[in-house]
Amino acid sequence: METEAAVGGSAEAALAGSGAEAAEPLVPRETAREGEGAVESATAALPSPDPENSGNCADGLWELPVEHALRRPQCSRCSRPQKVCLCPFLPVHPLNISTNLYIIQHPAEENKVLRTVPLLAACLPQDKVKVKIGRRFSEERDPELSAICRNPGTLILYPGAEAINLEELISNSPNHLSTIIIIDGTWSQAKDIFYKNSLFRLPRQVQLKTSVSSQYVIRTQPTNRCLSTLECAAVALAILEKNDHIQETLLRPLQALCSFQLQHGAQIRLSKEHLLKNGLYPKPMPKNKRKLRKMELLMNSVKI
Ligand SMILES: [Zn+2]
Repeated sequence: METEAAVGGSAEAALAGSGAEAAEPLVPRETAREGEGAVESATAALPSPDPENSGNCADGLWELPVEHALRRPQCSRCSRPQKVCLCPFLPVHPLNISTNLYIIQHPAEENKVLRTVPLLAACLPQDKVKVKIGRRFSEERDPELSAICRNPGTLILYPGAEAINLEELISNSPNHLSTIIIIDGTWSQAKDIFYKNSLFRLPRQVQLKTSVSSQYVIRTQPTNRCLSTLECAAVALAILEKNDHIQETLLRPLQALCSFQLQHGAQIRLSKEHLLKNGLYPKPMPKNKRKLRKMELLMNSVKI
């Protein structure tokens, strides 16, 4: 939620469930253009095929692969436009991990400009990361995913009522935990995916209790402790692999991405929690009493 949802399970989870803040993108929407303009359709400027002019020198232009030639070249490793490739910030070799990571990605995340999952995947061995895109998954259509969900060594990062703190689980669990599933989407998308797919309620639910503040400052997070999918994966893998170096390495490209965006005019998006606490929240307070109460609790940092 953005997995961001998976952190804490207190204020964030309550917010996600309230409906009041559910509209806040968990892995919020991008606010910055990437310092590069959008790709424009080259074909629009071309004359359309006209059979009557087939003898003229201008015709045949539409047959040229113009659009392909103008498409912004993309780096094959980090999936970023080549001009803003983040590969110098990725580890030279993929990190050596034993945990398998499954990212369940809401289809809307796939097309966002500022995506963190390709950066995450670029840091890890290919056979350790699987990204499955969709809203609905079933035993029949996804036998592999079903087997994963039924495996007692599989965890899902989701701050539901049954979620336990991942760190505590690791220290108390004699079993080998082989796989972790993370849902990539906004809060409401993640909640929808979790509740509408019974498969995802089979694995043990875990959450991250961390004091880490999101470094993904260019998208608004509901609270400072809501983490992007990449940050969640970084923290979770560091715990599962008992190796803090993993977290540092995975966060490096995100820091570079944020710093690049800020240099190119993106604004730091402070979390709603920060804005409320400092009297900077730009919107009128809600009239709905339940929502207002939640806002007050958030301002006072009371667990809700
Ligand atoms: Zn690259």
